[in-house]
Amino acid sequence: VRRAEHVDLQDTETTYRHTNTIRLLERKALLQWILPLLIHPRGEAWARIALRVPVVGKRLIRHWGPFPYFCGGVTISDSLRTVSRLAGRGIRAILDFSAEGLGRESDFDHTRDEVLRIINVAKTTESLPFVVFKLTGLGREELLEKASGGPMLDQEDQTELNRVTARVRQLCQAAHDANRRVLIDAEETWIQPAIDEIAHEMMKQFNRRGRATVYNTAQMYRQDRMEYLSALHAMGLDGHFTPGVKLVRGAYMEAERERATRSGGASPIHPTKETTDVAFDAALKLCVDHLDDLWLVVGTHNPESIGFLLECMADRGLAPNDPRVECSQLLGMGDNLSLILAKYGYNVSKYVPYGPLDRAIPYLLRRARENSSVADQTGRELQLVGKELSRRWPRLTYAFRSRVD
Ligand SMILES: Cc1cc2nc3c(=O)[nH]c(=O)nc-3n(C[C@H](O)[C@H](O)[C@H](O)COP(=O)(O)OP(=O)(O)OC[C@H]3O[C@@H](n4cnc5c(N)ncnc54)[C@H](O)[C@@H]3O)c2cc1C
Repeated sequence: VRRAEHVDLQDTETTYRHTNTIRLLERKALLQWILPLLIHPRGEAWARIALRVPVVGKRLIRHWGPFPYFCGGVTISDSLRTVSRLAGRGIRAILDFSAEGLGRESDFDHTRDEVLRIINVAKTTESLPFVVFKLTGLGREELLEKASGGPMLDQEDQTELNRVTARVRQLCQAAHDANRRVLIDAEETWIQPAIDEIAHEMMKQFNRRGRATVYNTAQMYRQDRMEYLSALHAMGLDGHFTPGVKLVRGAYMEAERERATRSGGASPIHPTKETTDVAFDAALKLCVDHLDDLWLVVGTHNPESIGFLLECMADRGLAPNDPRVECSQLLGMGDNLSLILAKYGYNVSKYVPYGPLDRAIPYLLRRARENSSVADQTGRELQLVGKELSRRWPRLTYAFRSRVD
């Protein structure tokens, strides 16, 4: 086992080994100027206008700027190019069909069918070990909210909820049969109880002792999630199955706080970033200490968290490629972490979002606008690009000088 201190997560030479300087400058421009323009409320309007320009508009958006940087493409087969590029660098992929907040039963069936197609492709593609979905891609948000503790469900609602659960079960069954694992994303607190309940039902059915197939997500910005993790651990022990858990900090902080303010209630979110960070570390440690009965996916772009995870693993003498631990980042974010983890033999994967432009673009922009952490993340990336450019610059200057001489 290699000690964690050998792993330099800021090693820009490894990170950008496959990126030439022109591309590096392009990335700098994208992060520094283009992304902030697009995230601006008017940015979405411009993108919508561009989408309406026949042929050229769509082509421009599809092949230039943030879309190809953060998305695998429009279809599964587009995204497979990204999947094999990542596989060549030792990074696995998790295809993420952009679908949420839909309204009609036919939309939900369509999402289910699309995820079934992903499972079908994953069956024969070694570098696709997981599939992922959001419950709001498979059922109405209002229904999930009602089922999360609002008024009792009437017969009609119950039938609709049964259909949602049946879709989830179909996906878990197909993934289980294909020997693939399932990540269920976490969403807002007012719909999460229903999501948790469905996830637990699936774990009881598909997870075995010593093998997690279904993973639920714990957002550690929530004050109640340490308790939740202990309860999940106990549930697995009682039920003789190994739960899977994906740890993240949480993406809906602004919406959570706004809703708490509107309703006059207390916010369910930790009061500061520091308290969220402490909870995240505590959760990491709890999971690594109990890997015999809790499998783990760590979804973060925070280098300190990854460093802490590696230390916990090294302290327990775990091999980097222990199948019970997976690290994951989003496409276009935290590339230094993904590439360096892969270099040292850790299990690492990228979420690769894809979907039709008219749905994926507003979805991505809205997420970026609502999520203040995107600004922190682009700051981190910009710093790394800057570091690598100044590492290369002396050589470039030297090369230029020798040519002139
Ligand atoms: C592979 C993967 C899967 C993901 N899946 C999900 C998912 O299913 N559900 C989901 O909600 N999110 C998900 N996310 C997003 C995740 O929750 C974070 O929003 C994002 O990764 C940024 O957090 P970070 O750990 O990377 O790093 P950081 O940049 O260190 O942390 C930023 C995060 O800290 C928290 N934070 C920031 N300021 C404060 C504050 N003042 N008070 C309290 N907390 C604060 C917020 O959660 C914020 O997003 C996923 C991320 C990844 C990489």
